[in-house]
Amino acid sequence: MLARIDLRGSRLPGVRELTGLLPRAGTDIDSVLATVRPICEDVRERGAEAVREITARFDGVDAEDFAVPQAALDDALASIDPALREALEEAVSRVRKVHADQRRTDVTTEVVPGGTVTERWVPVRRVGLYVPGGLAPLLSSVVMNVVPAQLAGVESIAVATPPQRDNGGLPDRGVLAACALLGVTEVYAVGGAQAIAVFGYGAGSCEPVDMVTGPGNVYVTAAKRLLRGLIGIDSEAGPTEVAILADDTADPVHVAADLISQAEHDPLAGAVLVTTSEQLADAVTALLPEQVAATKHSDRITTALGGSQSGVVLVDDLDAGLAVVDAYAAEHLEIQTRDAREVALRVRNAGAVFVGAWSPVSLGDYAAGSNHVLPTGGCARHSSGLSVQTFLRGIHLVDYDEQALAGVARHVDVLAHAEDLPAHAAAVAVRQR
Ligand code: NAD
Repeated sequence: MLARIDLRGSRLPGVRELTGLLPRAGTDIDSVLATVRPICEDVRERGAEAVREITARFDGVDAEDFAVPQAALDDALASIDPALREALEEAVSRVRKVHADQRRTDVTTEVVPGGTVTERWVPVRRVGLYVPGGLAPLLSSVVMNVVPAQLAGVESIAVATPPQRDNGGLPDRGVLAACALLGVTEVYAVGGAQAIAVFGYGAGSCEPVDMVTGPGNVYVTAAKRLLRGLIGIDSEAGPTEVAILADDTADPVHVAADLISQAEHDPLAGAVLVTTSEQLADAVTALLPEQVAATKHSDRITTALGGSQSGVVLVDDLDAGLAVVDAYAAEHLEIQTRDAREVALRVRNAGAVFVGAWSPVSLGDYAAGSNHVLPTGGCARHSSGLSVQTFLRGIHLVDYDEQALAGVARHVDVLAHAEDLPAHAAAVAVRQR
C-alpha cells in the first residue's frame, strides 16, 4: 500500500534533490487556480446571486440566503449531545490555556533619552474564519480558529462553513453548536473558494473582512492564495499530512494507526514514515491492510496511502532521518524514537511536533491545547500554525523630542544624501533651525 524509498547506503542527497524525491501530493494549488479564479470573479461581480448558483453546483443546496439564522445556532446548542458539549468545553479550555500565553505585550524601547519606539500589538478588526465541512464537519476547527481570534481581541468574527444537504441546507449541527458555544453569531452556510471570495469581496449580508484564516481543501487554499493581498491570510493550510520519524523502539501498531488517522481526512492527505528500521517498515506495511479495512472511511484512506503523496522512507540513521523530515517540512511530525524529546528539539521544519508514544497527532487535532491549523505542502519551512499572533499586527510608535532628533540629524542627513533623497534630509534640517 505504501511506496518505499530507500535512501540507505549512499550519501544523502542535498535538500533540493531530497525534496524532489520525497512523496508529496500530486495536486498542487496552481492546478486548481483555473477553477477557482472564475468562482472568485463571479462572486465579486454578482455577489449573493453567484454564491447561490455556485453553492447549488458544488454543494447541491439551493438557498435564498446563506446567512445562518440565530435561531439555528441556538437550536443546535440546545440540542447538542451532552458528551459532545463536555468534550468541546474541555477542548476550548485547553486551547484557551495554551493560546492565552501567546499574547505579546506592547514594549517601549528608549533608544536615546527623549527618543522611544513602542511596538504596539493591535488586533485585525474583522476576520473571516473558514471551517471545513466537505468530507467531515470539522467542529474542532471552530475552536482552533475562534479561540485565538477572541484572545487576540478581534472585534468582528464571521465563520463560513459548507451547507449540508442532510441538515436542510444549513451547516452541520455540531459546527453550529460549537459556534454558539463560543458566542459567534455571524455564520454563513457557504464553503469552498466561494466562501473565501465572500469574505474577500463581501456578498449578501457579509461585509468584507480584513483577514481569512482556517484550513480547507485545495479550492479553499487556492482561493486564499488568489485573494492574498486584498485580504491577509494565515498559512496555506491545505490537504493534511503527517510524517513520522521512528526507530526500532516505535510500536508498529501505533505508527500504522497514526498514518491511517491522518489519511482519513482526505484522499489527498499525505502520510510518510521515515525510519531507520527496516523491521518497523515491514511490520507497519504488513499491518496496514487489516487496520485500514477495519475503519469506516477505508476507501478514502486507501487512496491517500496508495497515492504519490504517501510512502516509507528508509534511512541509515537519525541524522539522515532529521535531514529528510526537515526537507519534507511536514504539517504534523511525530517523533517515535529513543530520547524523543531530544530528537524533537533538533527539528527545524514542521507545523507541529508530537513527541513520543503518548502524543499522537489526533490528540493535537482535538484536545492537546495546541492549534491544528497548520502549514502544509512544505510551507512549514517559512510559516507557523495559527496562533493569537496571527491576528495581531505590530505597529511601531516612533516618539522623539526635539533634542533626540537633533542628536541623530547629521546621520539622517548623510544617509539621505547617500540615497540621493535630499528632500528626506531637508525634512529633518528644517527642524534644526
Ligand atoms: P472543505 O470545506 O475544505 O471544502 C468543501 C467545499 O469544496 C465544498 O463546499 C464545495 O463547495 C467545494 N468543492 C468541492 N468540489 C469542488 C470542485 N470540484 N470545484 C470547486 N469547488 C469544489 O472540506 P473538505 O473537502 O472536507 O476538505 C477539508 C480539508 O481540510 C482536508 O483536505 C483536510 O486535510 C484539510 N485540513 C487541513 C488542516 C490544516 O491545518 N492544514 C486542518 C484540518 C483539515
